[in-house]
Amino acid sequence: MEYNIAVSPQKERKVADTRSVPFGLQPTEHMFITEYANGEWQSPRIVPFENLVLSPLTLSLHYGQTVFEGMKAFYMADGKINIFRPEKHYNRFCQSLERMCMPKVPKALFMEALHQFVQLETDWIPQEDDGSLYLRPFMIASEARLGVKVSDEYIFMICATPAYAYYSKPLTVKVETKYVRAAEGGTGAAKCGGNYGASFYPFQKAKEEGYDQILWTDAKTHQLIEESGTMNIMFYIDGTLITPALSGTILDGVTRDSLLTMAKENGVKTEERQVSWKELQDAFEAGKRVEAFGAGTAAVIAPIETLAIGDKQYQCYIGDDAMMYQLRDALYRVRKGIDKDSHGWNYVL
Ligand SMILES: *Cc1c(COP(=O)(O)O)cnc(C)c1O
Repeated sequence: MEYNIAVSPQKERKVADTRSVPFGLQPTEHMFITEYANGEWQSPRIVPFENLVLSPLTLSLHYGQTVFEGMKAFYMADGKINIFRPEKHYNRFCQSLERMCMPKVPKALFMEALHQFVQLETDWIPQEDDGSLYLRPFMIASEARLGVKVSDEYIFMICATPAYAYYSKPLTVKVETKYVRAAEGGTGAAKCGGNYGASFYPFQKAKEEGYDQILWTDAKTHQLIEESGTMNIMFYIDGTLITPALSGTILDGVTRDSLLTMAKENGVKTEERQVSWKELQDAFEAGKRVEAFGAGTAAVIAPIETLAIGDKQYQCYIGDDAMMYQLRDALYRVRKGIDKDSHGWNYVL
């Protein structure tokens, strides 16, 4: 073990009944934390969950130098525990950090911290089929100084919250052609806090108009579909799984990648390319069956029932035999260890 992580567990451990608690409200009993100063990550440790004490001058509070990740740990069918694709999440974390001028966390430290933290919190991983432990590694600029600058100090942490499949009613989504999530040269491919802060206003506007979500379009032409809210977007049309190709404005989702791989393995044709709302409209107008869904770690897939393009509303296919459910179930079987994990996605503790 390259990194010595000090572990100080709670004296009296008590797992809360979390099934009825809304997502994200109930942290587990511990957290991992390490501080970066003088070019080094210092005293990595797992301690009882507690509040941070920060100076009001802390840089991240003012200028948004923050990056996060989201991944899940599961109980497998054989009772072992796995973390799903932590190395891909680590790589993306590094890419986001680079874009935000933040120091990398060494891979060995990241993996060791994750491993030990999940090991300590196993009682908090729901045993139920639809349960998982949502893991939130994140980094904030912690130097206390009001000048606009790249921070010299950082805090890297991991905390967790139990998660269950929530029944999400199929969504009514509008193609957004006024506001943008990301522009070429911007931070769309980084998982940084500011992207979310900037999306709340257009979300709120869409909610007021009666929509559940937004389909973002490109900043230049507003013709090309990019993402669905805070998830990647996928379509299944004419036997082909189609998703926008990765570019600087689209987040490289682990779920997106996993579903694409599952589709290929199951003989489904896949295409990563530009998708315009005009193409979708033409498919609807031609009477084709169109599946549309968001893809992301939290919900895995989020079916879209109604798609609004301009002032027209189109119905997507959400029947039980839809391809999106088949792909979701295929992924579920790999994560549970029921089907063979031929890509080494499960990091088994
Ligand atoms: C996190 C995120 C996704 C989904 O990524 P996963 O790795 O599948 O969870 C998609 N789009 C945005 C903007 C995101 O922040």
